[in-house]
Amino acid sequence: MQINHQRIQRSLFDKKWMQFAVLAAAFFIFTHPIHAVEGEIEASHDVIVVGGAMSGITAAFHLQDYDVKVLERSYQIGGRALTQSFHTFAYESAANGRVRNPICEMIDGMGLEILKIISPDQVYVHNNQWFYGRDGLALMLIEQNSVQDFNRFASTVQSLFNQYSDLPDFDFNSSLAALDNITAGQWFADNQFPPAFLDQYNVISRGRFGSNLDEISALSLIAEIGGDFVDFKPIQTADSLTNSATTGQYKTNKYVFADNDQTIKTITEYFGDRVHVFSNVLEVTREGNRFLVVYEDKEKQRHVEAARAVILAVPAFIANSMASSILSQEQVDLLQQVPYRSYVTVQLYSETPIINQAFRFIAPAGLLFTDVYDDLWGYRATDPSFTAEMVTATVIVSPQSHNDESFFDIGEDEMYNRLFSEMDPFFAGVQEKALGYVSYNLSNIDPIMNLGAYHRLARLHETMRDGLILSGDYTIFPDFEGMVNSGYVAAQRAKEFLQQDSSVLYSDRYR
Ligand SMILES: Cc1cc2nc3c(=O)[nH]c(=O)nc-3n(C[C@H](O)[C@H](O)[C@H](O)COP(=O)(O)OP(=O)(O)OC[C@H]3O[C@@H](n4cnc5c(N)ncnc54)[C@H](O)[C@@H]3O)c2cc1C
Repeated sequence: MQINHQRIQRSLFDKKWMQFAVLAAAFFIFTHPIHAVEGEIEASHDVIVVGGAMSGITAAFHLQDYDVKVLERSYQIGGRALTQSFHTFAYESAANGRVRNPICEMIDGMGLEILKIISPDQVYVHNNQWFYGRDGLALMLIEQNSVQDFNRFASTVQSLFNQYSDLPDFDFNSSLAALDNITAGQWFADNQFPPAFLDQYNVISRGRFGSNLDEISALSLIAEIGGDFVDFKPIQTADSLTNSATTGQYKTNKYVFADNDQTIKTITEYFGDRVHVFSNVLEVTREGNRFLVVYEDKEKQRHVEAARAVILAVPAFIANSMASSILSQEQVDLLQQVPYRSYVTVQLYSETPIINQAFRFIAPAGLLFTDVYDDLWGYRATDPSFTAEMVTATVIVSPQSHNDESFFDIGEDEMYNRLFSEMDPFFAGVQEKALGYVSYNLSNIDPIMNLGAYHRLARLHETMRDGLILSGDYTIFPDFEGMVNSGYVAAQRAKEFLQQDSSVLYSDRYR
């Protein structure tokens, strides 16, 4: 065997092109070392942020008093928030009342325009009846079970969520911590909540995490749905719910950015030359008390810049590969344990809206799709005279299980056939209405809060004691508030680190 192997190698090397390729590669490596070398450093900063999406931009926003530079690989900032080109990117409550918090400070500080998503923001269906908003979900579950069942479920979630705070402040001494080590499915079973509850929240879990309730921790389910029960008061009779639940008239606390393109433009102009797009970071290393960041520009020209602190605002697996030589073994292990979900979104184009009952339709259990969003709801709902030549709806097609590898084997034709026939009972004539459709396979796109995720991430936060700081939605909780808060926390960490020894700051340009 060994002899054969050597023979094969030799015969390959005998080929002229192979000799040339090996020599060319050796020459390239010799002339283009990936590691930064002294003399190559073009600029020095207080902080370099790698990744110009929401967490990186938030970090940079809160580090404006320092010399901060953002390096973004793509042609524009925005990252995953732009995986859909229309207006389904929604976020909740935090901007409500313009409270001073990281999100509001950014929205106000940069002058970003947001639209309130007016009611009904969500609709559920059971037995051909439509149920709107939180009260609608309550009424639907009550109709399938009882007022007592719903009150017990809601007050349990409410009391758990009252003790909840997001990472890195989560209190591991609270009774809530144990919920990180059982699945949400187990939690439903332990509490003997009826199957209808399990089924509906399973759809929500699939839509949100690409995973069923047996694949996420009970704690992450509480984090996900707890906000819906903050104001919960025990229901006396189902009749007390029927008005808003069946008419869809109620107050929401959800928002969308008014216009993605304009939002990106405003943020880009705000930061000016502090944000560099087309900057693909290859490696981050450490030299003495500074970090060296090696990146390539659009023309594949290599650059090296230095910083006292670096914020890696990229997904866990990318952070791991670009900084492997300076992350501790424990950090590498923890980052490797962050699972990412894969799923498909389908965008349906039509002249008249596919969905006009609500911003978001949440499907019943057992279907291929979990959600349908009206992409232009913000405009249509706030401006009755709004017209567009073409409107779009986005459908989330999510596997029944995170581990269902056969999901991506369904051919496109079969997927559309199944999708249209599953949607038709709720959106009559959807296939004829859809003048065009396009699907996006989103592979390894969003982090999953699986069993033990909080414990592992808390440990990851503890390891960030020096100027190498990890940020992104996977470090806290994967939603808008999470990614913004992660950027804010990263900025605070960077400031603390820089202030430990102000003599090492490279620039006081912005002070
Ligand atoms: C289809 C879809 C719909 C969603 N809808 C919602 C929603 O309605 N509400 C909500 O709250 N959340 C939503 N989310 C989740 C939300 O988009 C994410 O939580 C958020 O965008 C994550 O931001 P981030 O800054 O942590 O990471 P990312 O957006 O992943 O940012 C990482 C950035 O780093 C850059 N980068 C990567 N590698 C390099 C490199 N080598 N060099 C330089 N730069 C690099 C990337 O280009 C990217 O810009 C949705 C996600 C998807 C996919």
